[in-house]
Amino acid sequence: MKILKLPKGKLDFFASVIQQFGEVHAPVERDGNYVFQPINRWSEVCLDYNRTVLPPKKYFLPPDETLFRYQSGEGYIPSIEELEKRIILFGVHACDIYALNILDDVFAGKYPDPYYQTRRKNISIIGIDCVPDEHCFCRSMRADFVDSGFDLFFHDIGDYYLTFVGTALGDDMVLETGPLFEEVTEADIEEYKRRSNSKRDSFRLDVEIRDLPEIFEIEYQSEIWDELGEKCLSCGSCSMVCPTCYCYDVVDDVELGSTNGTRRRTWDSCLFATHALVAGGENFRETRSSRIKFRFYHKQRGFVAEYGRPSCVGCGRCITACPVNIDIIEVIDRLRGVENVKC
Ligand code: SF4
Ligand code: SF4
Repeated sequence: MKILKLPKGKLDFFASVIQQFGEVHAPVERDGNYVFQPINRWSEVCLDYNRTVLPPKKYFLPPDETLFRYQSGEGYIPSIEELEKRIILFGVHACDIYALNILDDVFAGKYPDPYYQTRRKNISIIGIDCVPDEHCFCRSMRADFVDSGFDLFFHDIGDYYLTFVGTALGDDMVLETGPLFEEVTEADIEEYKRRSNSKRDSFRLDVEIRDLPEIFEIEYQSEIWDELGEKCLSCGSCSMVCPTCYCYDVVDDVELGSTNGTRRRTWDSCLFATHALVAGGENFRETRSSRIKFRFYHKQRGFVAEYGRPSCVGCGRCITACPVNIDIIEVIDRLRGVENVKC
């Protein structure tokens, strides 16, 4: 992998040049939170952020998207305008890139999803490193570092960003910006390693995941699930903000008085009361305790069996979004038998 460095003072110029590769979207502050959105002025970009409310997943699997329209005599008309748009996501954290690599397993694996795959092709990713806060446990989930899934990745080393070039497109961006990038020195590498070690030591949360599937297996009948079911509001916020949750619903909006219509898909959540409701009125997960249990089991056990790793990257979003303070770390600690945990 090619490694270069970019002077921090040239970042805005770099961002203006790469607009020829797509519309630049980056994190900006909004009412004390951070969101990815299109950028008008570089000065509004906040690269020193903890986490965005919604993860970059929203670009690849939008909360509400039209799949196609259907019309008598015309058949199916695919909705491709938005799919073809070229976007550059600037300032994506390693855990969110890791989450996209996990979604690739789902949407680009056994059952390829052309909508997701087209967006993946047309949206470039420029990653940036970050400093963990009190809710981050990406290191425990092995998602604090990525070696794939980005075009460029910037690491702060003081006056420069050490830049990993991940793809040919990333290389084109570097070439297009010509002399902006410089060769790295031994001192730069030493500084990168020093900061990397310091980041590792700054995590305040630590979860042992190696035996988690077994712990979940043993605790399937635990009363913890009933307690969580009493507390959980089934609001689905934890799924909505999660970078790896991928459940969706498909609905047809048929125009009144005709057979024409639109097929849409929208985010769904396994916490919603109707998620496991099927024709005939049977609901496989009628109780809130069964639904919250399902979410934990799917992420920490079922996904491991299917794909070899949990579908959680430790971003901490579900912890900050839950209105009744259900905390994934506390749940895991309680299942493990750690004493004095409240959850
Ligand atoms: S389960 Fe929670 S911590 Fe894990 S990836 Fe989803 S939102 Fe982040
Ligand atoms: S955010 Fe909290 S209350 Fe809402 S569904 Fe998730 S666990 Fe339940």
